[in-house]
Amino acid sequence: MKKLIIAVDGHSSCGKSTLAKDIANYFNYKYIDTGAMYRAVTLYVIENNLLKDGKIDENTLKKDLEAGKIQIDFKYNPELKKSETLLNDKNIENKIRGIEVSNLVSPVAVIPFVRKKLVDLQREMGKEGGIVMDGRDIGTNVFPDADLKIFLTADAEVRAKRRYDELKNKGEDVSLQEIVKNIKERDYIDSHRKTNPLIQAEDAVLLDNTNLTMTEQAKIAIKLAENKCKEEQ
Ligand code: C5P
Repeated sequence: MKKLIIAVDGHSSCGKSTLAKDIANYFNYKYIDTGAMYRAVTLYVIENNLLKDGKIDENTLKKDLEAGKIQIDFKYNPELKKSETLLNDKNIENKIRGIEVSNLVSPVAVIPFVRKKLVDLQREMGKEGGIVMDGRDIGTNVFPDADLKIFLTADAEVRAKRRYDELKNKGEDVSLQEIVKNIKERDYIDSHRKTNPLIQAEDAVLLDNTNLTMTEQAKIAIKLAENKCKEEQ
């Protein structure tokens, strides 16, 4: 049976990674969280003091990227049964989910040479098929010929509440207001940037999960993927 390329794009914090993981587990496909890759570069910027007076030192960032000083990998953690993000061989999974990285990631993801580098890596990772990739520009730019494209969205306040509960559970000291602001700002920057903005691909299926559980959204998406598999046979 053909191994599909499945793109899951959509707004910030709407459960894309949960959905993508559910589809990948069901079909025994690889799952790639492209947001984690932009978050890893952002962490590099923070940890290497490449943010000065609110401005990103793009020259140094470019040099470091080209010199191979920013290596991003994913490693499966069998205990947690999930894949974790590594930056230069260090596990950064927790650090990249916090509010500090979240507040800087969209400005970093706007930079064209950052996008080019990560998009090249993503195409390499997915070229064999049998992959579910989530992000903002997977169906429009990374894999415009993906077999199935899902565009996921939900009401911004609902998304913020979900993310707030998640961070609180992890013990992070954040306010709901701060999360709402972060989500709205990221949506705006992601949708309005010049290079590969967040837009729904013409051939993507729109899935609004404001009133759906994660199980319900997974069922819908798996059905869509199964139909694609049948079409390909
Ligand atoms: O998916 P996640 O919320 O972790 O992504 C973090 C940020 O990375 C997004 O807000 C967006 O700015 C950027 N991103 C992107 N293109 C992708 C994936 C993420 O620009 N394919």
